[in-house]
Amino acid sequence: MQEAIKITKEHLNSETASKYLMEKWTDWRWQIKNTIRKVETVEKILGIKFSDEKRDEIKKTIEKFPMAITPYYLSLIDSDDYENDPVFKQCFPSIKELTISPFDMADPLSEDKDSPVHGITHRYPDRVLFHVSNVCSMYCRFCTRKRKVGDVDSIPSKDMILEGIEYIKNTPTVRDVLLSGGDPFLLPDEQLDWILEQITQIPHVEVVRIGTRTPVVLPYRITDNLIKVLKKYDNLWINTHYNHPRELTKTSRNALKKLANAGIPLGNQSVLLRDINDCPRIMKKLVHKLVANRVRPYYLYQCDLSEGLEHFRTNVGKGIEIMESLRGHTSGFAVPTYVIDAPGGGGKIPIMPNYLISWSTDKVVLRNYEGVITTYKMPDSYEHTVCDLNCEECNLQLKLDNDEADLKPIGISRLLCDYDDDITLVPEDLERDQRNKDVEELEV
Ligand SMILES: *Cc1c(COP(=O)(O)O)cnc(C)c1O
Repeated sequence: MQEAIKITKEHLNSETASKYLMEKWTDWRWQIKNTIRKVETVEKILGIKFSDEKRDEIKKTIEKFPMAITPYYLSLIDSDDYENDPVFKQCFPSIKELTISPFDMADPLSEDKDSPVHGITHRYPDRVLFHVSNVCSMYCRFCTRKRKVGDVDSIPSKDMILEGIEYIKNTPTVRDVLLSGGDPFLLPDEQLDWILEQITQIPHVEVVRIGTRTPVVLPYRITDNLIKVLKKYDNLWINTHYNHPRELTKTSRNALKKLANAGIPLGNQSVLLRDINDCPRIMKKLVHKLVANRVRPYYLYQCDLSEGLEHFRTNVGKGIEIMESLRGHTSGFAVPTYVIDAPGGGGKIPIMPNYLISWSTDKVVLRNYEGVITTYKMPDSYEHTVCDLNCEECNLQLKLDNDEADLKPIGISRLLCDYDDDITLVPEDLERDQRNKDVEELEV
């Protein structure tokens, strides 16, 4: 650890760290081995001193929610103004994490509930979330899976991973597998290769995605050998997780370049975080930097109701304001979808400003980003075509061998379709239904 402190300091203080130091510094395994887990180490490296009271608070917080910061990520902190530093705030604990609000939940997204086998969350009809790693190089303070951070019991064993793969094999509706964790890129290359091979061999799996924060917090992980492994799979997408433009350093951009040059489509998921990126200008800068590096902003998440995140949460209005400042003002493909992941496990719900102001039977009234109000005249005749799923009779030239997968309509689209008789969606425990039942029983 002494060496880590020395190297980190050198790296912070001099542009031309010696070759020997640089070699270690750029080795991701060295970064992991020297991950910073103690308050005192942070103080030494940043050259700061907390009061005894503050140090005690932090230690108390770490007991519940452990700390882990890669030397690389720590080196991005401006030690002269660390308290306001967006990097510092994302990685360094705060006593506020111990404040649990009555609305907080340990597992707000019901990932454990919607789990048919260990490690798999199957929420949507055609895709699954597959937790293949419990390890992260850095513990983000705003982690929605905070409950599992550092918990050795939830490290997926090879048997569990096999079980997950077996589930996917036996579930033909799954066409998209999302590898998550922890961070899948913390697995050794061979293990990741093995998992990818197993999954891509399943005939009904069309797409595999990996969610990783390593380009942000451990960019040296994107090694030539890792690229070699990833390149073998030609249906692979990667989503990374930048929250602030400051995170797109030269080193980090270089990691993105390697991935993009390997032909892998890149997306980014950000979390809206109070006093870190809850600002239209910061968000615009972030999405611009992302697209300049061939990363497509994918989602902007409203911060989840996980325990200990209250101080990171913003109003939903702030998110809408940010979306208002992006759409129309900048390239369409730089605009992410702002979502709230429904507490209780309903999945991601998109939120945006209203653009549809009103409508009649022949016109819709719309407004654009400038506030211009316009109308769109609909065609005089557009007859309803009754769809009975007989695609052959329809002239849209969709040559489908009526595979069952999308024949079962779900949710609101069920209400809209012709081939299902349901005209309402009714809560299961509707009080009115219960009343009627009681009356029937009385009458019997
Ligand atoms: C986010 C998520 C997905 C993927 O959702 P997309 O909108 O397709 O990106 C799948 N499963 C779970 C449980 C998720 O939380």
